[in-house]
Amino acid sequence: MTTYITTPIYYVNALPHLGHAYTTIVTDTYSRFRKLCGDDVRFQTGTDEHGEKISQAAEAEGVSPRKYVDRISRAFKDAWPPLAIEPDHFIRTTNPEHIQTVQDILQQVFDQDDIYFSEYSGLYCQGCERFLTEKELVDGNCPDHLKPPKEIAEQNYFFRMSKYQDWLIDHIKKHPEFITPERYRNEVLSFLSEPLEDLCISRPTSRLTWGIPLPFDENFVTYVWFDALINYLTGIGYPDGPDFERYWSVAEHVIAKDILKPHAIFWPTMLQAMGVPPYKRLHVHGYWNVDETKMSKSIGNVIRPGELVDQYGADTVRYFVLREMSFGLDASFSSQAIIDRQNSDLANDLGNLFSRALTMIGKYAGNVVPEPFKGLLNDMDRELINALEVMIAQYRLNMNTFNFNRALQEVWKVIGLLNRYIVTNEPWELAKNADKEKRLMTVLYILAESLRIFSLVLRPVMPRAAEKMTAALGLDITEQVTLDTHGKWGIMRPGTKISQGRQLFPRIDKKKRQAGKNQQAKPEEKKKEETTQENGLIGFDTFQELDLRVAEIVAAEKIKKSDRLLKLTVRVPDERTIVAGIASFYDPDELIGRQVLIVANLKPAKLMGVTSHGMVLAAKEKDDEGNERLVLSTVSDRVAPGSKVG
Ligand SMILES: [Zn+2]
Repeated sequence: MTTYITTPIYYVNALPHLGHAYTTIVTDTYSRFRKLCGDDVRFQTGTDEHGEKISQAAEAEGVSPRKYVDRISRAFKDAWPPLAIEPDHFIRTTNPEHIQTVQDILQQVFDQDDIYFSEYSGLYCQGCERFLTEKELVDGNCPDHLKPPKEIAEQNYFFRMSKYQDWLIDHIKKHPEFITPERYRNEVLSFLSEPLEDLCISRPTSRLTWGIPLPFDENFVTYVWFDALINYLTGIGYPDGPDFERYWSVAEHVIAKDILKPHAIFWPTMLQAMGVPPYKRLHVHGYWNVDETKMSKSIGNVIRPGELVDQYGADTVRYFVLREMSFGLDASFSSQAIIDRQNSDLANDLGNLFSRALTMIGKYAGNVVPEPFKGLLNDMDRELINALEVMIAQYRLNMNTFNFNRALQEVWKVIGLLNRYIVTNEPWELAKNADKEKRLMTVLYILAESLRIFSLVLRPVMPRAAEKMTAALGLDITEQVTLDTHGKWGIMRPGTKISQGRQLFPRIDKKKRQAGKNQQAKPEEKKKEETTQENGLIGFDTFQELDLRVAEIVAAEKIKKSDRLLKLTVRVPDERTIVAGIASFYDPDELIGRQVLIVANLKPAKLMGVTSHGMVLAAKEKDDEGNERLVLSTVSDRVAPGSKVG
């Protein structure tokens, strides 16, 4: 199959921000996903460089428009590689080939009488660079720019858009996939329920010269949208290039909701007038707010992609935006939210799973993927394999329909399952018993094969981390693999040599991140009288002062220079560090995923340089020879981390 996917060409009146990055990450992810499905894919992005706002921005900088657009276009082009975004083609509307094609199209549409000259007076919004209708105004203002439009009367050229209204309504109704998500399809249909006005497609050169001259009247330049939309055709060599033939019939556009109307109404009617079939699908997404506030230059909260990559790395940024936003709806960005995703989903759930599994294959199987014993598969194994297969199917479905957050939820569901699989199967216990050798090898094979599948489905989302995983699993990263050939159970060959990888995702210390911010004043600690009674019994009130909770261990490591202490990261459900004197009884590896009981309101104490926020409860027993043994406390069934014990 063939895929042609585009971002809008970005308007070069400002530098790239989080919104541009999101659209482009989505498009790159989809492009990589379709490649993983075996498609011949073309992914195009670029810059839109004509129009009034550009001419004004250049003037404000005291440079020529040409010099100005070169600089900003370069900033867009350079923003993508650090995010692991790899377009196949970057188009600029100042390219001579594009200009020529736009003029040819204008001439054709003019010759067939779909463009006419007329006097027009209307309400013009400079921000939108178009005439607004009375209906569009909110309290007399442009709803996007919150300013009243100017009354302008001038002679201009018009495209007979109204002529294609019925055709467009019919096309949208017959093709449910044409505009998605559905809310935007409904919005367009509702707009089309009123008579459509013709589109003014020219600007007099007395007012603006930075544009493509109309081929049939030198006193006018082309309205920027009639120029810009055509990039989707010129980028693939319209009208007679081989790539046009190859890609146009499957064209899909990704846009933010602010440019729905040009893409859902102007563009298909323009194509229809030209005699070119419409694009196949239009995918519309919502806005990113920052800390619940609209991102804006005047508030000073504009997020730049470069800063995000420097702070979190490309993989985390990509994962975060895809996981956090429901495609089509607005979402909110905050550094707290991205740190939480990194620590919880990436460092704990995926990163720990990966390093633990590799450590165990190293320790118990000499760094070689062992032979599984198929006859020994039990119900839990089969359930896990089945869950992986269901996940792959769900993942495909959701990636194809741009439900990236759901695709990732499906993947993480099985990552959680595999983490519990380790806790239940206790490979470290199996390793103690020679009779359990076959079972141990089967469990280790299942771990390796599951990781391989994760590394495969995560390729489109986190290309760099997925590549690290693939390499650590001893697989050839240059091998051409597809979901059809490799997205199934049992591909990992026993005997494959793995290597102990580096950490996939570092944990981010929230305290360090927030060190610059004002520290909140600590509340006064309450002083309480000891209420122990003479017979050693305590009152209920005293007991109630203890905050006992169920905590889930998400990370564990030895504390240097101590044989006794482990540093645990637990979820209650917020994460905290607890130091526990259990190092001689438990390996860090076997603790992850376990639920334990803790005293949550113990005063913080520093042990070997690490501050402990609470205490893990364990039973202590002594045998006849005086040897001590510690056994961790827990609950008899899994409960939500943070559940109160009382
Ligand atoms: Zn406006």
